[in-house]
Amino acid sequence: MAFLILSKKKDDTIDIMITKSNDAKVAFYTLGCKLNYSETSTIGSQFLDKGFNIVDFNEQADIYVINTCSVTENTEKECRQIVRRALRNNPDAFIAVTGCYAQLRPEEIGKIDGVDVILGSNEKFKIFELIEDFGKKELSCIYVSPTDELTDVYAASSTDADSRTRAFLKVQDGCDYKCSFCTIPLARGKSRSLPPETVLTIFRKLISEGYKEIILTGVNVGDYGKAINTNLYELLLLLVNEPGEFRLRISSIEPNLLSDEILDLAASNKKICNHFHIPLQSGSPKILKLMQRRYNSSFYKNLIEKVTNEIPDVGIGVDVIVGFPGESGQDFLDTYNFLKDLPISYLHVFTYSERPDTKAINMDGVVEHSERKKRNTMLRILSEKKRHEFYNKMKGKTLEILFEHEEHSGYMKGFASNYVRVQNKYDTALVNQFTGICINSVGDNICTGSLAE
Ligand code: SF4
Repeated sequence: MAFLILSKKKDDTIDIMITKSNDAKVAFYTLGCKLNYSETSTIGSQFLDKGFNIVDFNEQADIYVINTCSVTENTEKECRQIVRRALRNNPDAFIAVTGCYAQLRPEEIGKIDGVDVILGSNEKFKIFELIEDFGKKELSCIYVSPTDELTDVYAASSTDADSRTRAFLKVQDGCDYKCSFCTIPLARGKSRSLPPETVLTIFRKLISEGYKEIILTGVNVGDYGKAINTNLYELLLLLVNEPGEFRLRISSIEPNLLSDEILDLAASNKKICNHFHIPLQSGSPKILKLMQRRYNSSFYKNLIEKVTNEIPDVGIGVDVIVGFPGESGQDFLDTYNFLKDLPISYLHVFTYSERPDTKAINMDGVVEHSERKKRNTMLRILSEKKRHEFYNKMKGKTLEILFEHEEHSGYMKGFASNYVRVQNKYDTALVNQFTGICINSVGDNICTGSLAE
């Protein structure tokens, strides 16, 4: 297939290049969550199917595709910087911007010099339907559907390039929740799920390609199946009954959606990782209310106790936001002490960032940025303490590790089912093999072990 690439010369005459796609180079840059990476990888496959060559973003390419995020103000700033970086690599390149920032504020992106097309959440997989000529545009073209028209669910999966052992499989998109700080429902629309048979088809393909760990991802994965009369438990049951050596990891799950059925299945079937990433956001009852989260702190505490009682050595990761409007010093200490006393393994700490069109942006009690930063640092230190405590509990135990192919000064690394990071002397025979490792010592965010007898 041939593509038209038009570039303006210094003397304003137009250079017309009709290029067979297998000459043309495309480069990708992704901001944000694993879901975005899965979607970029799928867009990449579309270009490969058309015979394009995918090159590194720092190389000169004919087309640059930037998949954006809108969770924080910084990600939007970063998007603008990346567009400029692409144009420094090749001032004549065709620049396409997609993702959540593109869905929410296409006009703002349209003002960035050099952007040729802006594609919304529905349009990101329709590049070749919407664009025929990848020549530079005088004005950027905007293809963005209104949020209430975001009804389709596009399959997407990406592989962890480094490890080549793990693959992310998107099963759900959008969200029906109304957390007062979050723009994701505005950028990705209502909660919707891939039919189980479609998930199964992609799952089987990934397993046949040799991936041993499949991470189920989405915006609100626990909400899987709501509109199609099924649920996440049913999907897990379907997948664990597939033949073969593999394990399933749930990327993240809302506390109110981690059902007893899922817990029982995880406790009884080692094909489900004994690891849960459960967003909390705040340990202060007052702030949880202002955030419009769907649980209170005692529900969360009881859930964590139930999970740790039912599943031995379970790894638990927690998302928490600091500096939310109205968060007093005491509210923050409530969060700090709440987390300190919980049997969890690590934290992902986020600093509250004002987002347009959210309820929180108009709330009173704005926290100084310097204070937000201080609170963020305190929780990151707590997270390291928690991780170290959890890793120390693994000493003398045998964990099943999936080692990655990359070598790190004579060592190989991999994750245990409970998300503990482990290294062992490099042995090619162990790459991408579930291997029993006896944990001997704990270092900086990694355990060292030896082959179990
Ligand atoms: S659950 Fe809340 S924080 Fe998560 S995507 Fe939905 S609205 Fe946003």
